[in-house]
Amino acid sequence: MTGLASLGATGLGRFKGLLGGRSASAATPVEVSAARASNRELRQALMLLRDYEQSGIGWFWSTDSEGKISYITEGVAQKLGKTRDELVGESFHSLFILDRDEDDTVERTLPLIVSARKTFSELAVRAALEEDEIWWAISGRPQYSASGEFAGYIGNGSDITESRRSQRDASRMAQYDALTGLANRHRMGKKLHATLTAYKAAKRACALMILDLDRFKQVNDTLGHPAGDELLKQVAQRLKRIIPETCEIGRLGGDEFQGILPDVDDRGRLGDMARKIIEMISQPYSIEGSRCVIGASVGIAVAPYDGIDADELTRSADLALYAAKGGGRGMFRFYSCDLHAEAERRRHIEDDLRDALAKDQIYLNYQPIIDLKSSKVVGLEAVMRWEHPELGNVPPSVFIPIAEETNLISALGDWAVRKACDDVVTLPGLVSVAVNVSPAQFGNPNFPTVVTQALAASGLDPERLELEVTESIFLADDGVIEQMFKSLKVLGVRLSLDDFGTGYSALGYLETADFDKIKIDQGFIRGITEKGSRNVAIIRSIVALAEGLDMVTTAEGIEAHDELEMMRKLGVQQIQGYIYAKPAGLDVVAEAMASGEWFIEPNGPSRYRNDRMTVLRKIGLIHEDHRYDATMRNMSRTGGLVEGLVDVPAGTQFVVDFGEGQLGVATVRRSAGSMMGLEFELP
Ligand code: C2E
Ligand code: MG
Ligand code: MG
Repeated sequence: MTGLASLGATGLGRFKGLLGGRSASAATPVEVSAARASNRELRQALMLLRDYEQSGIGWFWSTDSEGKISYITEGVAQKLGKTRDELVGESFHSLFILDRDEDDTVERTLPLIVSARKTFSELAVRAALEEDEIWWAISGRPQYSASGEFAGYIGNGSDITESRRSQRDASRMAQYDALTGLANRHRMGKKLHATLTAYKAAKRACALMILDLDRFKQVNDTLGHPAGDELLKQVAQRLKRIIPETCEIGRLGGDEFQGILPDVDDRGRLGDMARKIIEMISQPYSIEGSRCVIGASVGIAVAPYDGIDADELTRSADLALYAAKGGGRGMFRFYSCDLHAEAERRRHIEDDLRDALAKDQIYLNYQPIIDLKSSKVVGLEAVMRWEHPELGNVPPSVFIPIAEETNLISALGDWAVRKACDDVVTLPGLVSVAVNVSPAQFGNPNFPTVVTQALAASGLDPERLELEVTESIFLADDGVIEQMFKSLKVLGVRLSLDDFGTGYSALGYLETADFDKIKIDQGFIRGITEKGSRNVAIIRSIVALAEGLDMVTTAEGIEAHDELEMMRKLGVQQIQGYIYAKPAGLDVVAEAMASGEWFIEPNGPSRYRNDRMTVLRKIGLIHEDHRYDATMRNMSRTGGLVEGLVDVPAGTQFVVDFGEGQLGVATVRRSAGSMMGLEFELP
């Protein structure tokens, strides 16, 4: 290679004549013999050069003092769409475009480099004339005449297209999500940072939307991961259709997506967009021949109002998303500063819940379950209570969901099973005890062992232990649930289906799940004595279904005599409700049962506060320029109970959109968790 190197250094331009086949001019014999010898050498060198050029590994080029091509390897000329002869005389820098890295901040161009007459090496360039992308690395060295005048460049090049492509693929992979082709978390983070930094000075707004799929995990678990992947791809396609092209969409991982919307701060427009996204995502999907439906929750934050840097804005959008999910899923929420306070409050509760058991703050109350015909107490439902040192009595509707999210539920729930068994054996009578079991507990393969040990330690007859589960357990893997049913049945305990009719499940699971009891949710009881209530028909069919499948029926939440009479008429066997008794401590129960048996006469209002109807109606709540989706749970002439927004301060005014153009003004009178009582301005 030294030969080639030195030839290169001598200047290829010198060989142009030979390459072109012209003969040398007249010379002396000595010169001729010397020339012969050097001709031989040269010829050999040329052969080697030709061979090298033809191999395609590398190529050569040279220019004159004006930067015009004086030589270029034929193969490269062809790649540039011309012959060598056609290229000779063209300006070198018009043939190539300099590649600049994304991060390259120095403004460099090929003409600039060449006019500086400096040596350069391994510059990545692209053919200026070519459609296909071919990449070369070129090096060049300035040449000077004996008198020191600039004589042009000589240089070489090599094809780097392949390595460029794989480099580009790698950088694509580092920036894009392989599954959906959307930008990945890394790219979105960079993009958000860059946008916010640029916009800060210009005082431009930028919205950030974070979207999380509801029930995606169930699809993944039931239809398998390939189906989950396919679903994510389809979600990405739908998002691309809705989100304007000026915005960047990305997948942050799992079932979380993000949209960066530069120059958008109109909350009306953002709300419309979010609503459209949720609607589109919630349309059914066809995946490998199966139909499946998911939902989406969206959190929105707008810079600079809700955060000025990427971290701050992301945190705000995350909080809004969290609130959207907590508000019942399938909704969107804007960030508002009270969400920070709410998150803070929740974190406190979470922290405190962690050692509530150890600190003896958790206990069980028992609510009697009565046989309607005989008025005899046949069972007790254990309900968990938390006496918080500062907050007082925290209701299970607040702390159980937190326990479920933070994996504390198994410890709490397993404790409840043991405690309830221990408690109930100490009672004088032979009532059974019902314990609520969370889906997370029910999915734990260790759960039968927990039950076995609780029974063994207390000596309670398994027949007397009832485990209450809700339909949501069927959203998990069938196999696991079926196995759990078998294992528990073997132990001899009974299983109840709690809150029946409130879940999303189809009835199909009743085929395999061998329940002993159905508990009819309070939601069906409310308003049952109203004229034309459809709940009568629903309860009638639940009773028929239960009879057919040899299950006992218990109605929950009976408060008034008219409701009780209706249950009697419909053939419901057992009642649990305030009309008989509220949950009470073990000592109270023990005293009432002192004789070994306990009969309770119903005692309550003759009619349920019948000005109030259970409505379960989707409504819109408009506050300032935001619109929130919520559910009206029940409604009277003067107000209603609304679910969907968390911790709204009392006194807040909303415009309520009842749908079909019906609007009204209402004020929040009280609020707890996601529920709030509204008073209408006009009855
Ligand atoms: P649930 O299992 O459906 O329990 C029945 C709920 O209805 C209890 O609320 C009970 O006090 C209430 N209730 C009974 N009769 C009436 C009535 O006539 N009127 C009204 N308005 N309410 C009535 P509680 O104790 O607040 O429990 C709420 C939920 O928290 C329970 O619903 C259950 O899902 C959950 N929970 C309670 N304890 C536990 C537990 O130890 N483990 C688990 N995983 N969940 C629990
Ligand atoms: Mg229950
Ligand atoms: Mg229930």
